[in-house]
Amino acid sequence: MPSIMARQIDTVFVVDEDRCFGCAACVGLCPVDALSLEGLLVFVDESSCTHCEHCIPACPVHALSLSVEKTNPVHGVLA
Ligand code: SF4
Ligand code: SF4
Repeated sequence: MPSIMARQIDTVFVVDEDRCFGCAACVGLCPVDALSLEGLLVFVDESSCTHCEHCIPACPVHALSLSVEKTNPVHGVLA
């Protein structure tokens, strides 16, 4: 197991399904094999993804990104 980067809190790896056309350029670049192609769309195993961003620049149509989720209820509600 590569010990690269820790997963980023409140962040999820996102595939833009409208952009991805299944070229597979990203799939072989993932050091933890979190990406897989199903037909003409790539899927991410979010629990495996380390958020290393290694694959993101490889996508010719910018379909890959990290998205910050601001709604994590773990942080509680401000009074
Ligand atoms: S961000 Fe890193 S771990 Fe996640 S899918 Fe891309 S290459 Fe794989
Ligand atoms: S590089 Fe981009 S277009 Fe190609 S399979 Fe990956 S996400 Fe889809």
